[in-house]
Amino acid sequence: MPSYVNPEKCDGCKALDKTACQYICPNDLMTLNRDIMKAFNREPEMCWECYNCVKICPTQAIEIRGYADFVPLGATVTPMRSTDSIMWTVKFRNGTLKRFKFPIRTTEEGKAVPDGGWKTKDADLKSPVLFTEPESLGLPQVVSIKH
Ligand code: SF4
Ligand code: SF4
Repeated sequence: MPSYVNPEKCDGCKALDKTACQYICPNDLMTLNRDIMKAFNREPEMCWECYNCVKICPTQAIEIRGYADFVPLGATVTPMRSTDSIMWTVKFRNGTLKRFKFPIRTTEEGKAVPDGGWKTKDADLKSPVLFTEPESLGLPQVVSIKH
């Protein structure tokens, strides 16, 4: 099941220029009906159920089916994100509730260094190795087969 917006919970992100779900969707699927200030998925068949919109929605208005490898059929899965953790609430068909809390980062919010501390050199852009290599491998150079 693709993302579904519960209109009773959606507040249109309080009329911001771009809603949180529009900002985060990698497929540009979420849109806002400005007449009623409710978001919806405009192309459900293109949704790959990545959960990004579900996790970012500040009002927990978006739902997606839980994958069968972590919840049984018919259960609902609702995330609640904070700055350092995410709490998943699973409601099973029989009404049982279970909650799981996980840390989501090891670096304080806003403190992540874009290049991870590895000094990127311009020449790296044309190199076939990863930009942290060979340093991140602990090697003086990346071993390759010469033709
Ligand atoms: S992020 Fe949530 S509250 Fe904001 S517009 Fe999307 S569905 Fe509505
Ligand atoms: S689940 Fe992912 S692809 Fe589907 S609407 Fe939400 S953000 Fe977009």
